[in-house]
Amino acid sequence: MSNHSLLILPGDGIGPEVMAQVRRIIDWFGANRGVSFDVSEDLVGGAAYDAHGVPLHDDTMAKAQEADAVLLGAVGGPAYDDLDFSVKPERGLLRLRKEMDLFSNLRPAQCFDALADFSSLKKELIAGLDIMIVRELTSGVYFGEPRGIFEENGERYGINTQRYTESEIERAARSAFELAMRRNKKVCSMEKANVMESGILWREVVTRVSADYPEVELSHMYADNGAMQLVRAPKQFDVILTDNLFGDILSDCAAMLTGSLGMLPSASLGAPMENGRPKAMYEPVHGSAPDITGQGKANPIACTLSFAMALRYSFDQGAEADRLEAAVEKVLSDGVRTADLLGEEGVDPVSTSGMGDAILAALDASI
Ligand code: NAD
Repeated sequence: MSNHSLLILPGDGIGPEVMAQVRRIIDWFGANRGVSFDVSEDLVGGAAYDAHGVPLHDDTMAKAQEADAVLLGAVGGPAYDDLDFSVKPERGLLRLRKEMDLFSNLRPAQCFDALADFSSLKKELIAGLDIMIVRELTSGVYFGEPRGIFEENGERYGINTQRYTESEIERAARSAFELAMRRNKKVCSMEKANVMESGILWREVVTRVSADYPEVELSHMYADNGAMQLVRAPKQFDVILTDNLFGDILSDCAAMLTGSLGMLPSASLGAPMENGRPKAMYEPVHGSAPDITGQGKANPIACTLSFAMALRYSFDQGAEADRLEAAVEKVLSDGVRTADLLGEEGVDPVSTSGMGDAILAALDASI
């Protein structure tokens, strides 16, 4: 019996394929490092709809609330495109985020040296890049009321509302400062305080919270300038803190600076539970990739690195997370590539399980 409970939701498409490799890695940590987990597995997305007629069963939601961490593969696929909005696979994911109140979305943008040529930026701008974007995830313009499409004077208009309370800003800010304390102790907060009142409040609250973290250097930047700086000189940043809308755009931009979608992990964290650990869900950024499902082509690294984030942020196993990330780095520098990472001539791609084998071999070599 372990005191680490992990709920695994492989989901749809390539989700189960990449998760199968991560299950092997989880087992490796149990067998070789004494870091074991009570793993349970359940359905989400289209797979849950097929079994239960809903994209997330109430029992699965309850298990997610109980677990120390949730690790999710991907949801969605063409078979579910015509379903009613209320039961689409993505609603399962949104329900998890909302009911677990996962307000802080962590999206690392990290460049592995072996993949620096993959970036659209020059190698010297990107090599060694290591940024963490903290995006507020449960409020702001995606949730604010009033919202909708209405009609006035014979013309329709669409409306969404950017609304942030002080406490919503404060908890997102705290999570960014806490992270910065474990990293290079720099936070850059991005909003549009020049044109938005919500941005003025954001800046004021973040500045106030920063007084509790005197070791962390805080700077502020307008989000449009932030976008420019991300492609001009991304290495100037350590932790970027921003709201839901700007974070959606800036985190996609920053992450893709570093190469393939098959490489990108994420974490969504909520308030601390009774055991002091934050509620948490970890998932690759990519979707269910129906174009390659069932072909053994999916890159399992994004899901693997999501598990590394779980080791670090949910289970206080920072050294083991470092070990797993170093194993991925080693495999890449040895030239092992899934099809999405092919660039060089004459390199044969490995399959999803071939990449799993290579990561496990690198883990074996690390002890
Ligand atoms: P996608 O991320 O599934 O795929 C985009 C492209 O990247 C595809 O060419 C795919 O083959 C490739 N790709 C993605 N992950 C890869 C991996 N691990 N290895 C190798 N190549 C990979 O995005 P999409 O095609 O826009 O969406 C497909 C489905 O996934 C849709 O139903 C969408 O709603 C859903 N989706 C789910 C999530 C999620 O579960 N978090 C996120 C995005 C999209």
